[in-house]
Amino acid sequence: MEATVLSESSSEGKRAAVDVVRLSHVHKLYGGGLGGVHALHDISMHVAPGEMVSVCGPSGSGKTTLLNLVGMLEQATEGGVVIANLLISKLSEMARAELRNDMIGFVFQSFSLIPVMSARENVMLPLVLRGRLEHSQMVDAELRAGELLDQLGLSAQSGYYPPKLDASQCQRVAIARALISRPRLVIADEPVSRLDNGCIRMVMDLFARQQRDHGTAFLVSTRDQRQFTRAGRALQLSEGRLVATARAAPRRPLRVQL
Ligand code: ADP
Ligand code: MG
Repeated sequence: MEATVLSESSSEGKRAAVDVVRLSHVHKLYGGGLGGVHALHDISMHVAPGEMVSVCGPSGSGKTTLLNLVGMLEQATEGGVVIANLLISKLSEMARAELRNDMIGFVFQSFSLIPVMSARENVMLPLVLRGRLEHSQMVDAELRAGELLDQLGLSAQSGYYPPKLDASQCQRVAIARALISRPRLVIADEPVSRLDNGCIRMVMDLFARQQRDHGTAFLVSTRDQRQFTRAGRALQLSEGRLVATARAAPRRPLRVQL
């Protein structure tokens, strides 16, 4: 894999050596000329291994664009996106796909489930796509998919196809699918937007267990910061700009840095 590893001599380099995600002065423009949209302006941020970071902002503030850049589904117009110490713009499309499959689980805002596969088959998909599974690996994958669906309150629906599931159930299937390969980084785009409070708690507990047991890092977007309260750090986006970072500080007022 052709890769550019950032120098570790500078303090910036030292940060990049340990972060799962690092963005430096990133801009994203869609289209050009008068009709162009400047979706992200000069974004610099990082996610450390095992850290949970939320990105909050109203609709249209750039959350999906930011998450798609980190997930390597889109490319920055300007600035550096570094994932696991690799400068993404220097990687071939194939290397990016490999890196994505190896280390990232993605919960899409629109779920993106396969309608002709059952909930369990959808959850197993990332493992199945990694290549031919031996019988024992297939059994393990089925077991793990069953466990995840169970932990998300969906044991009775594991054989259902997405058209038979409601939005909350589809969202939870999409969450289970993002976790099945125990990725180093989970990127979740408004993963609790369709859930009631009981299900939100289930999802946050599951994320916290993954964080604790597997050192998984999370980058989670939300329109309402009160909906997703477990993040160690919350980034606030407004019209494509990062306007504040709040570090969770229980029983003390949040320290806001501009
Ligand atoms: P959010 O997820 O916070 O709702 P988005 O990242 O989806 O925000 O959108 C940020 C801005 O970029 C919006 O103005 C949106 O209309 C625009 N945008 C997003 N995707 C595209 C695209 N593919 N082409 C043109 N404009 C886009
Ligand atoms: Mg969005």
